Amino acid sequence: MERCFVCGKEDTLTDGRCRECYLKESFQFSIPGKIKAPYCKSCNSYYTNRWKTLEDKSSFINEILKNNVSSNRDIEFVTEFSKTKEEIQAKVDLTEEGNISKIKLTIRPFQEDPSFDMEASTEIHLSGEQCQRCSRFYGGYYEAILQIRNDEKKIELDRANEILEIIDDLSDKLISKDRMAFIARVEELKEGIDIYMGSLSAARKIANELIKRFSGSTGEAHKLMGLDRDSGKKIYRTTVTVRLKNLTQRYAYYRSHLYLLDIAGDNFKLTSLEDESQLSIKGKEFEKELKKESIRVIDKDLLEVIDLSVTEITPERYQMMKLSGDYESFYIPKEEVHLIRELKTGDNVKGAIIDNKIIIIEQESII
Ligand SMILES: [Zn+2]
Ligand SMILES: [Zn+2]
Repeated sequence: MERCFVCGKEDTLTDGRCRECYLKESFQFSIPGKIKAPYCKSCNSYYTNRWKTLEDKSSFINEILKNNVSSNRDIEFVTEFSKTKEEIQAKVDLTEEGNISKIKLTIRPFQEDPSFDMEASTEIHLSGEQCQRCSRFYGGYYEAILQIRNDEKKIELDRANEILEIIDDLSDKLISKDRMAFIARVEELKEGIDIYMGSLSAARKIANELIKRFSGSTGEAHKLMGLDRDSGKKIYRTTVTVRLKNLTQRYAYYRSHLYLLDIAGDNFKLTSLEDESQLSIKGKEFEKELKKESIRVIDKDLLEVIDLSVTEITPERYQMMKLSGDYESFYIPKEEVHLIRELKTGDNVKGAIIDNKIIIIEQESII
């Protein structure tokens, strides 16, 4: 045994020092006795370098401790010591008193030897503040107006509720990344729905999503509102307009069959115009099929429908005649007709013409 040149104690020495002196001179650890964490109770979020939702207390505590500790070594904050961790561990013992979290830290510099444990303590004070988003939200702030309009007529109540549900849903999803993606106000007007939103980029994303689901077009108009007091930059308010086509009036041509297209939540609902069977396709799948062009969406006005009459039936095929234009007769194999009812000579049916092919349908619209 040698003597530590600092304190003179007999010990196993490192660089001429006993463990204790070595620690004193080569390991630093300090934490303020009191840490203030800005906290917005309106939306349950706290501020470190940005506002974040306080979802689980222990990761919040860990983050605050990490941000406030000063040490020349990496410190891992743990609830129990582990023998397998490389970093120096600090065990966190927590007691809550109202807005104050009292924390006792046990720091173990040598994981195999608890006799060198050190202690420190701190308090995390949640200080009540209103985050920027909430102060804007409660101050009636909005950056964009999302206008939903229907191409032809007034948006029916059912449809309006469905659209608002979709928008609520999207805004909830966007808010986890863009805290300003809140809906400040909704106005249902004669001409459509106006949604006041905290974030222009969120309004644009929602507009695009609506177009994907309902088809239609978007446009933007900007209005100069004044100058920002701090930055001197011009402040614009943007109106994003979505002009929707009436979705119930659209058809989907998919795998040689013709369907009426509707949405049900995140899915697309396809109802066969031939035999009324139904398909449900997930939104993402539907987009993929659209890209591959295996689904084609046809607007009501663009679907060509003709009246037909069954003029003759053989075991394999029907003879039909067009009841307009050139009154042409043609044959169609029985296996290509999918109507539920059995066709008889003299029956009238409708045929939709797609790619020069006639698809026998029961009716144009089931609704
Ligand atoms: Zn010593
Ligand atoms: Zn807030």
